[in-house]
Amino acid sequence: MKPRYPTDGSNDGRVGASLHFEQNAPGDPYGFHRVMRPQGVMPQAAWQLDNRPQLYDNEVHIDVDVLNIDSASFAQLREAANHDVTRVETAILEIVRERGKMHNPVTGSGGMLLGSVTKLGSRYGDPSRRLNGGPNLAIGDRVATLVSLSLTPLELRAIRHIDMANGQVEVDATAVLFESGIYAKLPDDIPERVALSIFDVCGAPAQTARLVSPGDVVVVLGAGGKSGLTVLRQARLSSGDGTLVAVEYGDEACERVRKLGFADIVLNLNATQPTAVYAAVRDVVGPKLADVVINCVNVPGTEMSSILCSRDRGTVYFFSMATSFTAAALGAEGIGKDVSMVIGNGYCHGHAAHAIQLLRESPNLLEVFIQKFA
Ligand code: NAP
Repeated sequence: MKPRYPTDGSNDGRVGASLHFEQNAPGDPYGFHRVMRPQGVMPQAAWQLDNRPQLYDNEVHIDVDVLNIDSASFAQLREAANHDVTRVETAILEIVRERGKMHNPVTGSGGMLLGSVTKLGSRYGDPSRRLNGGPNLAIGDRVATLVSLSLTPLELRAIRHIDMANGQVEVDATAVLFESGIYAKLPDDIPERVALSIFDVCGAPAQTARLVSPGDVVVVLGAGGKSGLTVLRQARLSSGDGTLVAVEYGDEACERVRKLGFADIVLNLNATQPTAVYAAVRDVVGPKLADVVINCVNVPGTEMSSILCSRDRGTVYFFSMATSFTAAALGAEGIGKDVSMVIGNGYCHGHAAHAIQLLRESPNLLEVFIQKFA
């Protein structure tokens, strides 16, 4: 197919330097017009996006305050930088300079952002073209994007501060939201940083509501993190008097989980050690094992701990971005385990509103998020 946009990809080292540009030119709903290289792929798969500040007719431009780096990505950057904040800063600047987006090449994941709308393309929000189904946007609206930074063109001018514990990065930057890109307006009653952190993982509790049935035995790995805690809350609501087992690594995080009181059993275990996790979970729930296992860990190598804890024909939900398809598929086959494995789609209908409502109705959970992020 002949590209409708000048995506020849040749440039002098600056993103988009060789492209001709017409102000308010027609943009593609899915953002193909911003793909630099390789040609013909979607923006998420592209190595490099055009991050120039010119406005296409269906785009939203956002003045970015905070990047919420995906937890698996931030954990990898922090580890590679030996926890040195200057080296993390350099790595983030380098990734965005090279790729035109904050797309970690090691983990493949992105994150999302918080900012204010500064420009709207002349055809953005045209009801006959609207793909995102969201509310109309106006200049000055405070929004969090609900699409990954790994497909969001980003011009990153400076980094002001990096929260090394939470992966939230204060920046001077401009981002582009495509016409198909979903977003959430920030709620008035929840601190912005808390909303940002919950929106990042909002697919997880919404999908948990679909997967967990009354009476289920549920195991949550990485239960003390953002997604883990919201998943535990939802699993408690959905399973009723079912059994909830939280697996977390480290005393502090386990204490946090215990205090919230959602889980029946909290196990302090390293999820990268499958035999130890399997033995401990089997010990507490019995040989039938779990109906649903939900993986919310932010480090690699936890596929088999999840699969081993599932009963025959049970469901394993891999929300973690550090999940390897190969390790999960071949690992399950290797131990003859017939389980349904679900990829953690970042999107499902109503996910953002669902997660915010979960916080509103759970003051102790909201308090944990406020202490961590606000
Ligand atoms: P988070 O807040 O950092 O939580 C991760 C939790 O896992 C933390 O409590 C962490 O404990 C724990 N953990 C780390 N290593 C562990 C180990 N070896 N054994 C047991 N627990 C361990 O992360 P998050 O934001 O909830 O994200 C969780 C995962 O979901 C990440 O992989 C992230 O990339 C992914 N994610 C997926 C989507 C999607 O659309 N599918 C969207 C957003 C995020 P410590 O804090 O003590 O290390």
